[in-house]
Amino acid sequence: MTVADVSQFRAWIADTSAMLTEQAEHLTDLDRAIGDGDHGTNMARGFAACAALPDADGEGIDAYLKKVGMTLVSQVGGASGPLYGTFFLRFAAPLAGATSVGPTEVAQALRAGVDGVVARGKAEVGDKTMYDALAPAVRAFDGAASGGADLAGCLEAAAVAAAGGRDSTEPLVARKGRASYLGERSAGHLDPGATSATMLLESAARSLG
Ligand code: ADP
Ligand code: MG
Ligand code: MG
Repeated sequence: MTVADVSQFRAWIADTSAMLTEQAEHLTDLDRAIGDGDHGTNMARGFAACAALPDADGEGIDAYLKKVGMTLVSQVGGASGPLYGTFFLRFAAPLAGATSVGPTEVAQALRAGVDGVVARGKAEVGDKTMYDALAPAVRAFDGAASGGADLAGCLEAAAVAAAGGRDSTEPLVARKGRASYLGERSAGHLDPGATSATMLLESAARSLG
């Protein structure tokens, strides 16, 4: 069974930061179509600040991820900062005291993180938000875990499901966030937040487990 320790969680954030920097223009283009054209810069800036967090000696996984969450809340403006910040703050809580984690613990953390996004943003599936990528990811992770998959396998299943959820946002009319101001004109474009959430999970599949 594969497990992850704090150094792999650091690698996850570093990989996400690199990915978001590389894809910033793409995310911003998506947000330009149905929002205010800042999602790429918001995300790249926020995760760069997280990737630059100093390596505290003997720090637990939960303490590290709480710092990531606080950094995103404080450094990223707009809707996505508090939502991703809450994701990491809530993700960290079930991992308190753990020095290495496997599928069971990450399943709890992922569910808590995504529940936090819902508590904060009140999105439902089909509202054309990041939750449309996150909700199927949680289900796929749990399904893979109950089937006995190791952490890497669970994360790969979650990333594939997130990508499917991201793609499902294209025809939707947005009901939450800035894109909802466009009404019917929001249809025909991928949701930027569902796109960045998929990158976060694809990066987890590369870095954890
Ligand atoms: P802003 O819209 O404030 O400029 P960003 O562009 O960084 O913020 O983020 C936009 C993304 O945030 C959207 O694509 C959507 O996925 C997500 N989002 C917006 N509102 C909500 C919400 N209430 N719940 C979940 N996600 C949301
Ligand atoms: Mg925006
Ligand atoms: Mg904005």
